[in-house]
Amino acid sequence: MNTAELDLYRRAVREHVCRLCLDRRPGGGCSRPESDVCPLETHLEPIVESILSVRETDDIDAYVQALRTQNCTQCRQDEDGNCEMRDLVACSVDSYLLCVIEVVEDVARQHGHGRWAAN
Ligand code: SF4
Ligand code: SF4
Repeated sequence: MNTAELDLYRRAVREHVCRLCLDRRPGGGCSRPESDVCPLETHLEPIVESILSVRETDDIDAYVQALRTQNCTQCRQDEDGNCEMRDLVACSVDSYLLCVIEVVEDVARQHGHGRWAAN
């Protein structure tokens, strides 16, 4: 995914996910410190690619598995598959998962990415 494509997802995430997030600053932007940057900022590309790797399904577990195997292994998850952030309910991907999936799939649908790509 190139930078311009990734920026489409970044803008949509900031507009639709950050808007719901308790860590959002009242005037806009994110309140999390540099030592604890949100995975939607640090790992947006593998998050998007994980979601787009899932075939059409209503099974949320398919998305969870894709994210944990393709993204979380590059993020803060340990070798045993545990993540302290997730356990503390402090991971925005996990906390706002349905919204993250919807936002990513909407951008992909609009721009012909993933399973919406022209053959
Ligand atoms: S923690 Fe993540 S989702 Fe929440 S406001 Fe910050 S960047 Fe957005
Ligand atoms: S659950 Fe943990 S490893 Fe997975 S995206 Fe969130 S912070 Fe990263």
